[in-house]
Amino acid sequence: MKFKNLANLFSDLESTTKRLEMIEFLSNFFEGVKKSNKFEDLDKIIYLLQGELVSNIKKFPKIGLAEKMIIDALSLHSGIDKKKVKEILIKKGDIGATAEQILAKRRTQMSLFDFEESPSELEPSLEISELYTALQKIALSEGTGSQDVKLGILRGLMRKCSPLENKYLLRIITSTLRVGVSTLTIIDGLALGFTGIKDNRNIIEKAYNFHPDLGDITKILAEKGITEVEKIGITYGIPIRMMLASRVPYGEIIEKLGTPLTAEYKLDGERLQIHKKGQDVKLFSRRLLEISEQFPDVCKTLIENIQVDDVIIEGEVVAMDSFYEKMLPFQVLSKRRRKYDVEDIIKEVPVCLFLFDLLKYKSESYIDKSFMVRRKKLEEIVSERDELRLVKSQLINSTDELLEFFNAARTEGNEGIMAKSIKEDSIYQAGNRGFLWIKLKGLEGGKLKDSVDVVLVGAFYGKGRRTGVYGTYVGAVLDPVEGKFIAFTRFFSGLTDELSDSLTKEMEKYKTEKKPKSVICEDIPDVWFEPEVVIEIIGDEITISEKFLTLGYSMRFPVFQRMRPEKGPGDITTVEEIRSLYDSQ
Ligand code: ATP
Repeated sequence: MKFKNLANLFSDLESTTKRLEMIEFLSNFFEGVKKSNKFEDLDKIIYLLQGELVSNIKKFPKIGLAEKMIIDALSLHSGIDKKKVKEILIKKGDIGATAEQILAKRRTQMSLFDFEESPSELEPSLEISELYTALQKIALSEGTGSQDVKLGILRGLMRKCSPLENKYLLRIITSTLRVGVSTLTIIDGLALGFTGIKDNRNIIEKAYNFHPDLGDITKILAEKGITEVEKIGITYGIPIRMMLASRVPYGEIIEKLGTPLTAEYKLDGERLQIHKKGQDVKLFSRRLLEISEQFPDVCKTLIENIQVDDVIIEGEVVAMDSFYEKMLPFQVLSKRRRKYDVEDIIKEVPVCLFLFDLLKYKSESYIDKSFMVRRKKLEEIVSERDELRLVKSQLINSTDELLEFFNAARTEGNEGIMAKSIKEDSIYQAGNRGFLWIKLKGLEGGKLKDSVDVVLVGAFYGKGRRTGVYGTYVGAVLDPVEGKFIAFTRFFSGLTDELSDSLTKEMEKYKTEKKPKSVICEDIPDVWFEPEVVIEIIGDEITISEKFLTLGYSMRFPVFQRMRPEKGPGDITTVEEIRSLYDSQ
């Protein structure tokens, strides 16, 4: 397919903020694809709509083109002085819009002779497949002279694009493509466009929860139809979207889950979804990325101690002291993220994997079985040792018992507890934050002790001791349906000088001149950020906000708690959760 068609769709999608209109643009587009019967680029189209180059469970190599070089390319391509390009960029705040403006203006000034010299100005000819081959080449070229090679390839691409296509091409190159359409909206568009039936979105969403590569699913939908999508189940090596917990006031937990229920310690580590087939083990993070290389010791323990050939299990990996007696906080575990000297860091930070769920046993899916059946099977296959244990759990019959268990969990240094339903219908709800799992983190003093994960969307420069670094940040929560990040609170306290310095440096990468389209914020910070970096904050209570009117809530006395590198912007606290936190106070 021609990139031109996709650029037109991006432009349509950006012209509205209304979800129903977006669904209509998408479904018309997919209907056109269906009629054309050409599906080879469909997966790539989906990833680009999601603002990525590949599916969110894979990594694309870094493109590695500095902004300076892109300005050079734009200047050479348009014949406009670099200084002028920079000036327009500062005004527009977006390299894509800058390119479009400069190139569209140049186009109106071109003579017939110019068009003959550069025919693509009249008939853009870039194919999506060709774009991907070029991006791979850019990413993979390294070493001396590579910058010239990258520049050459980029200029080649630009020549084949219209001004509108160049707008999106440069956004793709600078990883700022996001056109503001959520995955749920794309799923709605797919259902209508390919099947004409809106309700089929549920089938597609279910398949996506089991197999979170929407590109793959779309190809199956286009080539084989919705009945084949319905058959998509769990697959070895493809992470399942994780089941998540809700928050409920502790007095209502018993009522919500019924008795008896199971309560487990909520450990302060990192969640792992483990796929084991024979001697092969893959570990997936909360963001569904493979992180086996960070934990070769965990892989070895699993191979040696789980004697089943084909299983998918879940647990929390936690840093331990050298006697494997005391659990250490998440910050210690974070050292395992280092990519070099892995052997040394394994010795320095021993870990234990605490298992709590089983999703597949031999060739049978356990997703739709009740929690007790899953836990029982898990107990059967695990032989416990220092590095591999089952999460501590207890049957609970009353709120008093629940509180006793909670206090024991806290005394032993855990974050809190997880209360889990054990009723017949307590299935593993992939990708869902339902009410079969309820987390309880804090109760002290009647104040809000539960944390909130926000994505940083802006910052104000510091004053006094904090000159030279950002003093105050603006954090946003997620509206998953609209795919928007809604400003929730400013926060400044709790950052050490060291952390303040390193965070300021880190945030340079995400600075944008203008507020990103996916951000809704009533504040006007000194700088805006692409919503990427996730931080956990804690505060006194959720309050009604007169400043952040879209959300309507904010946090009293927010304090930085910790970085959440294992979470992406799609994993942060949602608008819905903030509402229920407020209601539960
Ligand atoms: P949080 O920020 O509280 O870790 P989250 O968004 O990652 O939240 P939730 O479902 O809200 O996910 O809380 C459950 C998380 O707690 C899991 O993702 C997992 O990492 C961790 N956890 C620790 N102990 C358990 C347990 N026994 N059962 C399930 N999850 C546990």
